Amino acid sequence: MQTIKAAVCHAFGKPLVIEDVLIEPPGTGEVEVTLDAVAICHSDISFASGAWGGFLPAVYGHEAAGVITAAGDAVGEFQVGDPVVVTLIRACGSCPSCAGGKPTICETPFDTSKGPLHTADGAPLDQAMACGAFAEKVVVSHRQIVKIPPALPKDLASLLSCGVITGVGAAVNAANLRPGQDVVVIGAGGVGLNAIQGARIAGARRIVAVDMTEEKLEIAKEFGATHGVLASLKEPWKAVYKALGNRGADAVLITVGAIPAYDQAPRYLGRGGKAIMIGMPHSGDMSSYEPVVLAAMGQGLVGSKMGDVVIQRDIPWMIDLYEQGRLKLDELISGRWSLSQINEAIEDTKTGSAKRNVIVFDND
Ligand SMILES: [Zn+2]
Ligand SMILES: [Zn+2]
Repeated sequence: MQTIKAAVCHAFGKPLVIEDVLIEPPGTGEVEVTLDAVAICHSDISFASGAWGGFLPAVYGHEAAGVITAAGDAVGEFQVGDPVVVTLIRACGSCPSCAGGKPTICETPFDTSKGPLHTADGAPLDQAMACGAFAEKVVVSHRQIVKIPPALPKDLASLLSCGVITGVGAAVNAANLRPGQDVVVIGAGGVGLNAIQGARIAGARRIVAVDMTEEKLEIAKEFGATHGVLASLKEPWKAVYKALGNRGADAVLITVGAIPAYDQAPRYLGRGGKAIMIGMPHSGDMSSYEPVVLAAMGQGLVGSKMGDVVIQRDIPWMIDLYEQGRLKLDELISGRWSLSQINEAIEDTKTGSAKRNVIVFDND
C-alpha cells in the first residue's frame, strides 16, 4: 500500500482534515489515477454535512481528472500514462439497468467502506461515491473513467465528470429535448448553467433561467438562456409564461436542492411537459403536487441521476463540442485552490456564487 494525502471527514459538519491515508494498488479491472484536479460539487458538501448519512471516516470528491499511473489486469483499452476523467458512475455493465443503457442507476451494490482506502493505522476509510477524489490518487474501476485528449487542461476536464454531464445530459438524455422546444431551468449554478447550455445545444427555442439573483440570471444568459426570471417573485410562473409566449414549458429542469423549486416546477409546465428532477435535496425532504393537473395535462415528473449519461458515449462528444467552441468549460471555473485550502474552497462554494471551485494538485 502507498501513503497519500487526502482530505478526510471524521465528523459530519466539521472541517475536513488533511492527513496521510493508505491506498491499495489497483486490482483486476482497476486503475490508479494520480489526480491533477478535482472540482468541489454540492454533493460533496451535502455528504460532509451529514445530509445523506454514510460511513465515517470518509474521503469525498468525485469530479476529477488525472493520469493513469498503475493498472491491474483486464482494464480494457486503458494504459499507464493515459489522461482520463474519473467519474462516480461505477457501473457493473451487466445488470438490467446497465444492459438497458442506464449505467447511472446500476443495480449491483458496491460497498465503498471496503474499497481501496484505509486510515494511516489501517482502519476502514470510506471511498465515498466510489471515488474518494479529495486525495492525491484514486483507485477506481476502469468502467468509471474515460480517456481525454492530452492537451485538454485537467481542471477543465474534471468538470466533465459530474457538473457538465449532469446538466447537459439532463437536457439531452433525460428531457430528450428536440429543436424548437421551450425549456425552464431552475437554478443557474454549476449544474444549472450546464443544463442551460445543454438546452442550447439541443436546439431549444426559448430557455428561461429561474434563480434567486439578477447576477446569476446574467451569467445564465452567457450560457444560452434567452430569458431570466427571479425566483423571488410572488408568482414566478406568470413571468415564465409571459416569456414563453403565454404557454408552459415542454421541459422544466430542476437543478437545485431547495424544496420550493420542486413544489413550483409543475406550475411552469405546459401540456405534455415533463419536469426533470436533477438536484439532490436532503434525505427526508418532501414535496407535494396536484395529481389531477398532471393527469389532465398529460404531464410527467421524472428523476434523472448524473444526466442519464453513458460516459463512454457522452463525454467524448462533449469534449469535441468544447474544442469547437460550442460547449463552455473555462467559464465554469470560479476559483483554483490547493488541497490544503479545501475547507476554504468549500466555504466559498457554500456561498452559492455559482460555478465551480477546483482543487489543483502540483504533480511536477
Ligand atoms: Zn457532483
Ligand atoms: Zn449494473
